[in-house]
Amino acid sequence: MRLGRIGGVVSVIALAATMTACGSSTKTVDAQASASAAAGNGGALIGVTMPTKSSERWIHDGDNVKQQLEKLGYKVDLQYAENDIPTQANQIENQITKGAKLLIIASIDGTAITSQLQQAADNKIPVIAYDRLIRNSPNVDYYATFDNFKVGVQQATSLLKGLGVEDGKKGPFNVELFGGSPDDNNATFFWNGAMSVLKPKIDDGTLKVASGQTDFKQAAILRWDPATAQKRMEDILTKTYTSGKKVDGVLSPYDGLSIGILSALKSSGYGTSGQPYPIVTGQDAELASVKSIIAGEQYSTIFKDTRKLAEQTVKMADSVLKGQKPEVNNEKDYDNGNKVVPSYLLDPVIVDKSNYKEVIIGSNYYTEDQLK
Ligand code: BGC
Repeated sequence: MRLGRIGGVVSVIALAATMTACGSSTKTVDAQASASAAAGNGGALIGVTMPTKSSERWIHDGDNVKQQLEKLGYKVDLQYAENDIPTQANQIENQITKGAKLLIIASIDGTAITSQLQQAADNKIPVIAYDRLIRNSPNVDYYATFDNFKVGVQQATSLLKGLGVEDGKKGPFNVELFGGSPDDNNATFFWNGAMSVLKPKIDDGTLKVASGQTDFKQAAILRWDPATAQKRMEDILTKTYTSGKKVDGVLSPYDGLSIGILSALKSSGYGTSGQPYPIVTGQDAELASVKSIIAGEQYSTIFKDTRKLAEQTVKMADSVLKGQKPEVNNEKDYDNGNKVVPSYLLDPVIVDKSNYKEVIIGSNYYTEDQLK
């Protein structure tokens, strides 16, 4: 503890020296030093591991968590693993070795880091699961995420809105269903949420899954890979949508997959005035997808404000390190196979062409210029 505090002071002095040398104002340094002192955290190191930089949202998540922790005076080791499970396991081990006092983990495979978590527990290092629940381990202390079931409900609701079912259109509409990565606990939550809305409409004949692929296992896309989704959509189009049969809607659980799906549809002749794209959903409000929504290609996405998730997680981490009980709002839904992990769930928001200005630009998530 003592050593940690001295380490913190030394690094602030070093930073002050560097900044003075660069001619920068020392005001920032004073502010950081007093924030650190106020937090009383002695500049403790926090290990943050994120799955991949190949999807924009995780870059935002990592940046936001890092910045906000640093504001409180913590040191941060932020790592990305390019969706490679052994790489992420190594990164966590390294952070433990480097003396991290807390770990924030957005896992790639929620079941694959049990031994690293045991190592953390042996060293009394608390663990916060970030966005994705870590499964089958008692050594997960808290979980910060969005209401994942609700995300699925919103994706399905938006699909029905786009098809006009909410306005009384009876169909039948041809739809195809995509799911997320089967090793990501969120994927089944999204799927179950979506199916709670779509199944009754499939049962009453409003929707027809023409490919017949209605099981999560058939729809799931390993590692959320856009190219795999594109290939699956191409196969479905070739096998099922022959002799003039058209796709009216696609449930897609993530913007990256939606882009792959739209690209398969484009190669098959969709996206013209005579043959417009079907209603395609998404998730994450990634820049390319919000642009695609504005251009009338992708129909909708689900906005999950990563700034807010970072804020909540950083508050949790700070409380845990101060020996306080962090704020949670759900202590029943997230059973990781070993225990129910106390969670904080944030609210996702449906975004389509009708509200992107208000929700996305209005909250300054992207500027109008970025969306041009
Ligand atoms: C996240 C989603 C994201 C997906 C793919 C999920 O765990 O909750 O926001 O779209 O991973 O990265």
